[in-house]
Parts: sequence; structure tokens; C-alpha cells
Amino acid sequence: MWFFSEEHRMLQNTVRQFALEELAPQISKLDEKEELNHAAFVKMGTLGLLGITVPEKEGGAGLDAVAATLVMEEMGAIDASTTLSYLAHTILCVNQIGKNGTPEQKKKFLPKLISGEWMGGMAMSEPDAGSDALGMRTKAIRQEDFYLLNGTKTWITNGPVGDIFYCYAKTDSDRKAISTFIVQRGMPGFSTGKKFSKMGMRASPTGELVFIDCTVPVSNRIGEEGKSLKLMMLNLDLERITIAGISLGIARSCIEVATRYAQQRKAFNKPIGAFQQIQERLSEASAWYEACRSLTYQAAKMWDLGLMVGKKASMMAAQAKLQSAQMATQVALDAIQILGGYGYTREFPVERYMRDAKLIEIGAGTNEILRLIIARQMLGSDTVDTHDQKGN
Ligand SMILES: Cc1cc2nc3c(=O)[nH]c(=O)nc-3n(C[C@H](O)[C@H](O)[C@H](O)COP(=O)(O)OP(=O)(O)OC[C@H]3O[C@@H](n4cnc5c(N)ncnc54)[C@H](O)[C@@H]3O)c2cc1C
Repeated sequence: MWFFSEEHRMLQNTVRQFALEELAPQISKLDEKEELNHAAFVKMGTLGLLGITVPEKEGGAGLDAVAATLVMEEMGAIDASTTLSYLAHTILCVNQIGKNGTPEQKKKFLPKLISGEWMGGMAMSEPDAGSDALGMRTKAIRQEDFYLLNGTKTWITNGPVGDIFYCYAKTDSDRKAISTFIVQRGMPGFSTGKKFSKMGMRASPTGELVFIDCTVPVSNRIGEEGKSLKLMMLNLDLERITIAGISLGIARSCIEVATRYAQQRKAFNKPIGAFQQIQERLSEASAWYEACRSLTYQAAKMWDLGLMVGKKASMMAAQAKLQSAQMATQVALDAIQILGGYGYTREFPVERYMRDAKLIEIGAGTNEILRLIIARQMLGSDTVDTHDQKGN
């Protein structure tokens, strides 16, 4: 990208190397076994990747959204699952504590999250509230100097293994009265429920968090009681930009594998790349990938420059994620088609890329919810009633 700085390019090289050495050798096995690459996660800590957006004076790398997106693309090109767990930790949990936490909260939680001693996650979704996140039912009732949390969160990335969760709960019957709490594994009344077996992103553990009279000290509340909605929305925009980076990585790898294959595989005494229908798939894939790459990094750059504020940010982040996610799924399907029978087997990674790519059309706001957000900006909220859906 033309505006990548020298620092971005150095980061790109470091992460590319890291992904080849630490993620590539493990991912097929971990995808099969549905296990996290914990050793690689800890190594990310030593590389300074786990607090990528946290200022240096607070122990982070002090880098921007372009850098974070770039890391997602480079790691996503090799192992989208571990990258998803990395995103949940670093963007949804660490970045949020860094942005919104008190000095005491930062001092208490950031060092171990940034070193990799603790793994983090974010808990918004519930069994009956996904796209309609404001319909969440988890309640937090204040009792002197602590809150009692009751409810269940579901589909939480890193839920089965995480130590620290950035959790949203209702502190009032008002739909928008959302508060945020840092919940730590081991707190009384906290447990993890079911771990889900998934089609893709299998090396990224996903599960339930259960709160039964879970006792959370008031000192673990982030921000004012009942006033988390705006901060929650803001983080969704950054989540969408950075997760689009994972889609870019997946698509790039699929294009590389399919292009090489089209040069080498022969049918009717010709490389299959000589056939116009194969050329069409490859050229459409590369054009769509480049368009999404430009849009996604432009969104990240505008975020960094402070040019994306309010609804404009939501629209552009939604556009970048909507297009990149659909593009990656289609490009992965095209790669499978170009590889024919081999593409459908585990001899080549494209079937895994396709399974992983599909998740990004669902998590961090489904395609349908993102279209609603974009349409509302275009047509106005009088015409497009989104019922406050934010789609997490
Ligand atoms: C692997 C994985 C990891 C995840 N990680 C996390 C995490 O770390 N933290 C977290 O909080 N959540 C997480 N999620 C949850 C994810 O964000 C939700 O699954 C997502 O927001 C969709 O919610 P839902 O599954 O309840 O679908 P629903 O909201 O029930 O939607 C079902 C279908 O209806 C459509 N739909 C809903 N409302 C509308 C509407 N108004 N107009 C048109 N169509 C509509 C949806 O687009 C979808 O196609 C994860 C999910 C998965 C699968």
C-alpha cells in the first residue's frame, strides 16, 4: 500500500517470517484437533504484537490501525484461526482496556495481557442476542462495592481458554443501559460452559461464559455505569476494519495457490491456466482482492488520521468488512474449483481457507447487518429502521 511507512514494512516482514516459522507448520494438525497454538500466542508477546495499539508508555507497541490490519493480513494468510484468537485478544480486549480503562485497571491487567501470560476475549453475544446485541439479558446488579452478574455469553472467541474477558451487561431495564466489566477467570460465580465444534476457524477456541451470581468488584467496571454503548460501537468499527485484514490474507493465499496450480497442472496437453475460464476466475479474484485491500487499508488509515468519526466510521468499516469477507469466501471457492479434486481434499489448504473465510461473513456483524448499516447512512434512519441493531 502506497502509504505504508518504513515501520509498517518492517513489521510486515517480521510477521510474515513469524507466520511461516511458527504458524504454518502447526495449522493443519491444530485445525484437525481443534486446538489453539498457545506457544505461538506467547511468542507474539515476545514480539510485542499482543499490545499492538497500546501506547508504548503503557507497555504496548504504540502502533496504529494500519499496522494492526497488516498483522491480521500477514498472519491470516497462513493461519486465520490463530489470527482470529489474536484479534479477540488484542483488538477486542487489550485495546479496549488500554483505551477505556482507568490507570489502576491498566496497571493491573495490561502487563500480563501484553506479555502473553494471560489471554483475553470480549463477551457481547448471548444465546438469544447476536445481531440484536442490545437485546442482551446478562444483568449486573450493584451491591455496595461489587456487582453480581447473572447470564450466559455465547460464541466467545478464546472463551474456553481465556483468563480475562471484556464483558458487557445490562445495569438497568433500558435497552441501551449497557455497562462493561473486566471479568477474570477464577472469580466466584464465573465458569466456562460448552466449547463449540466448528466448521472453520477450528484452531480458535469458541465457547460459552456462564455467570451465576458472579462477584465482580466495582473497581473492575470500565467507564460509567450504563454508558458503554458508544464505546462498544466504536470498538466494533475497529474490529470490522482489522478482521477484514484476515479476509485479505485468506484471499491472497488462495490466489497464490491457485495461480501456481494453474501454471503447473496440465489438462488436454496444456497448463489449465491456458483456458479462458480459469483465467477469468483468477483475474476476477485478483481484481476483487486488490479493490478490497485498497478499501480496507484506506479505512484503517482514515481511522488513524481521525477522519472517521461517528456514523461515517461505521459505514466505511462496514463497507470494508462486507466486501472483504464476501470476496474471501468467493475467492476460496474459486481456488477450490481451480484445483479440482485436489482442491476438495486436505492435500491443499484451500478447503481450510474456505471454511475459515465463511466465519467472517457472520462474526463482527453479519453481511445482512452491515448492509443495514450502510443503507441507513445512504437513505437515512427514517427510511431504514435498524432497530438499534449493531451486530457484533
Ligand atoms: C466463530 C465465532 C466467533 C465469535 N466470537 C465472538 C466473540 O468473541 N464475542 C462475541 O460477543 N460474539 C462472538 N461471536 C458471535 C457473532 O458475533 C454472532 O454470531 C453474530 O453477531 C450473529 O449473531 P447470531 O449468530 O445470533 O445470528 P442472528 O442475529 O440470530 O442472525 C441470524 C440470521 O438472521 C439475519 N438477521 C438478523 N437480524 C436481521 C435483520 N434485522 N435484517 C436482516 N437479517 C437479519 C442475520 O444476518 C443472520 O443471517 C462469534 C461467532 C462465531 C461463529
